[in-house]
Amino acid sequence: MIKKPIKGVLLDLDEVLADFAGGACRVHGKRLENLEPGEPRDLQVKLGLRSKEAFWKPINSRGISFWEYLEPLPWIEELLIIARALSEEPIRIITTPPSGPGAHLAILGKHRWLVKILGWTDRNRYIFTRDKKIYSLPGYVLIDDSRKNVVRFSEGRGLGILFPAYFNQYYEERNNPLPRVTNALLQIGEHNALHFP
Ligand SMILES: [Mg+2]
Repeated sequence: MIKKPIKGVLLDLDEVLADFAGGACRVHGKRLENLEPGEPRDLQVKLGLRSKEAFWKPINSRGISFWEYLEPLPWIEELLIIARALSEEPIRIITTPPSGPGAHLAILGKHRWLVKILGWTDRNRYIFTRDKKIYSLPGYVLIDDSRKNVVRFSEGRGLGILFPAYFNQYYEERNNPLPRVTNALLQIGEHNALHFP
């Protein structure tokens, strides 16, 4: 069998697979399309809310179902096909639960969403962490819409790819994010093939 060029792919959940921003806007009675795109990435700021609590309270009051019923983004299947074609190990999901009192609701709801949408029953493929850099190992790639996460991950031994999304610098590509991500994966693959043959 031909060796695949990337050891492992870690996929972020919110804004890469699930429409967290759209769901959060709905809870606050707003439409995502009416907010200013690009950074800062902080939805609380974009929604004009004064505190973290004002942002999270109505979301937390929806309970597990807020997370469980977030809209899946349309490119999930295609993104998984591309990532699988290049990755030696099975694809994993890496996601950050919020830090406040709703953290346990988020973890349960995200887990239900993942099992329902992806159908993966192996719990080892779902990583819940507030520090993705811990998983930055040689040959691993993180695909994430947060520039901060991507930069931090790339400071480790792996490499990060910034996924085009509403609140980052690639927002103009947000409806067609896969060409950029595919190119970046192929480039990393070529680099790995040269340096770790
Ligand atoms: Mg995200």
